[in-house]
Amino acid sequence: MRIVKHPAKYFRKTRKAAIDTIVIHYISAVNINKQRAFDTLEILKFFDKPVYAGIDKKTGKKKYVKISYHYLISRKGEIYGLVDENNVAYHAGISSLNGRSIRSSCNDFSIAIALVGGNWCEFTEKQYELLIESTKDIRLRRNIPKDNIVGHQHISPGRRVDPGSFFNWGKYFDGVFEKGKDVKTKNVDFKEKTFKNDLEVLSKAKIEPKNNIENGKDKNLLDKILEKIFIIFNKAKNKEHELFWWRKK
Ligand SMILES: [Zn+2]
Repeated sequence: MRIVKHPAKYFRKTRKAAIDTIVIHYISAVNINKQRAFDTLEILKFFDKPVYAGIDKKTGKKKYVKISYHYLISRKGEIYGLVDENNVAYHAGISSLNGRSIRSSCNDFSIAIALVGGNWCEFTEKQYELLIESTKDIRLRRNIPKDNIVGHQHISPGRRVDPGSFFNWGKYFDGVFEKGKDVKTKNVDFKEKTFKNDLEVLSKAKIEPKNNIENGKDKNLLDKILEKIFIIFNKAKNKEHELFWWRKK
């Protein structure tokens, strides 16, 4: 596995806990440049300077966030190393795993892998291959328990949606663990049991959902409708599709 180095500007060197968690994300440039939503070069810019994250409701001013992941996997199957695993990446925000958080976040005990993608289309085969390979590698090196391999949506329920409904957990876990062994009904556990606790923790913390570049809450109504149509369309076609290609015509 060849990792292309692209050091992110934002991270922290002082981890407050041992690493025992892997968090899967998706990211796209859809709110910045719709025509180039999956363009790796556009997305790599996010790690060089603060990213526009919508209008702050209180101040009415534009909001910017500093983000990073340890790894980014492109649609074509390149893996970028953004932050050294020993350092803390800024990826989870307000989050909690089984009621556990440090500074209200899972950042201190996790490694983040982001797939270029969105909530309107499938991820690519090459992305699954690299994600499985990198997860196996991290898991073995760091002895990560399988229940601690989670999506951002599971540790920030109600606030984040990635990697979303197009991410195939069964396929992923079949690859990371030997098929038929040790996998069981992972998804059911996630949704119904494990994360109830986290919702309670987060609701007590009175966290307001924020605008963010990942779930596109500041999209206008037309875009939302188009997104729904394309989700249906893409599910039917079962193939990768760019959301806004036809709007250029
Ligand atoms: Zn995320």
